[in-house]
Amino acid sequence: MAEVLKLAVVGGGWAGLAAAVQAIRDGHQVSLFEMAAQLGGRARSVDCKGVDAQDLTLDNGQHILIGAYRQSLALMRQVGAEPEELLQRLPLRLCYPDLDGLSLMPGHPVPAFARAVLACADWTWPERLSLLRHCTVWALKGFRCDPKATVAQLCATLPRPVREQLIAPLCVASLNTPADQASAAVFLRVLKDALFSGPGSSDLLLPRWPLSDLLAGPAADWLRTQGARLHLGQRVSSLVSDDGRWLVDDERFDAVVLACTASEAARLVEPIAAGWAQTARDLRYEPIVTVYLQSPGSHLPVPMMALHEGPQAPAQFVFDLGQIHQSEDAAGRFAFVISGARGWLDQGLDATAEATLQQAQQALPAHWARPPQLLRALTEKRATFACTPGLQRPEARIAPGLMAAGDYVQGPYPATLEGAVMSGNTAARGLTSERRG
Ligand SMILES: Cc1cc2nc3c(=O)[nH]c(=O)nc-3n(C[C@H](O)[C@H](O)[C@H](O)COP(=O)(O)OP(=O)(O)OC[C@H]3O[C@@H](n4cnc5c(N)ncnc54)[C@H](O)[C@@H]3O)c2cc1C
Repeated sequence: MAEVLKLAVVGGGWAGLAAAVQAIRDGHQVSLFEMAAQLGGRARSVDCKGVDAQDLTLDNGQHILIGAYRQSLALMRQVGAEPEELLQRLPLRLCYPDLDGLSLMPGHPVPAFARAVLACADWTWPERLSLLRHCTVWALKGFRCDPKATVAQLCATLPRPVREQLIAPLCVASLNTPADQASAAVFLRVLKDALFSGPGSSDLLLPRWPLSDLLAGPAADWLRTQGARLHLGQRVSSLVSDDGRWLVDDERFDAVVLACTASEAARLVEPIAAGWAQTARDLRYEPIVTVYLQSPGSHLPVPMMALHEGPQAPAQFVFDLGQIHQSEDAAGRFAFVISGARGWLDQGLDATAEATLQQAQQALPAHWARPPQLLRALTEKRATFACTPGLQRPEARIAPGLMAAGDYVQGPYPATLEGAVMSGNTAARGLTSERRG
């Protein structure tokens, strides 16, 4: 019989929730500490006021999952949150207001992708064949490349329309880092998983319900039912090594998963592992801005559309929440997403929201039943770490009985829900096997 650990999880984002659920499944006693009043971390719903002071519940930022997010989907199922009900599944389609774009049919993504490229009337035949040639070369090389290469370098020989209409939006959506700064190796890994993880892996999964209902709410219920202790609104302020165990704010634990943000983890472990703390502190971040607009009676032809980004046009994507969500409230509501938003935020959130409103009016004139109005702009300055080539990310193992979890921890993925869940699972399993070994 394996040893039952008294285990603390610090941080209740998707990484911490994954770690807590896995630790319970491994038979441990779990206490989870979250400094906010709610679980979910960056993937949470926010109660806020709109520009007209109306009460709103909005997502902290529009999130997309893909079919290849196997561990996230398994975690949701484990806690009783059914992905089929909570997420709208759509075959990958990247259309623009003025371009049909790439549109995959359901089925295995590799032939679906090849067929979609060949059928993409926005590109000339040489452009389509060039993309397929590049993808074949990447696949033959096992989706591996020079770790120092950027996405822009990897794709330099692709035709310009393919780079601008496909690679740039996919890159900024998945890595939240512009192609000229983003890691080609991580981009290829995401591409590989989206294309080669079986049928449905490239599908887009769009939340139909507020983000907090996807995992945080069901996980909290599940964890409580399983006997876990949840301490909300409790910021852990100290972590001290204590004769092979750990004192978390003076309470003794056998093992700890640090699933808080990288900066908080660095603060807590500085006296224990200064090198680890420095690597965590060295990470740089990219912001994401989500501008919510309202236009009653308006619809887009598809739930999600790519937009042409430019000096006057901040947003790369728009989501028609009326089509995606299950609630009356969401009708006529649109989320415009600005990833890699550092340059825009330098001009201020109000200026960014105003530019997005202008972009919405100009890019989608035929789709507004009434002129769109600003509902609310939300910004997350440290939305994700900047996923640059050769980036050194902190390792999961910090010290015996102490593991880190979070989207920033060393792993194959960029800062995503799946990366967070994978690291949470790894941390909990690592502590279990450490005791067994
Ligand atoms: C606007 C936006 C859009 C995004 N879009 C997508 C997307 O489309 N697809 C996708 O896959 N990913 C997306 N992401 C990224 C995704 O949200 C993150 O990768 C994921 O939520 C990270 O989870 P985490 O648990 O690692 O960290 P967090 O969610 O940051 O969780 C850390 C938790 O630790 C808590 N904490 C910190 N310090 C302490 C302490 N001392 N004591 C106790 N608790 C503490 C924090 O309050 C927080 O709840 C997006 C992120 C943002 C911000």
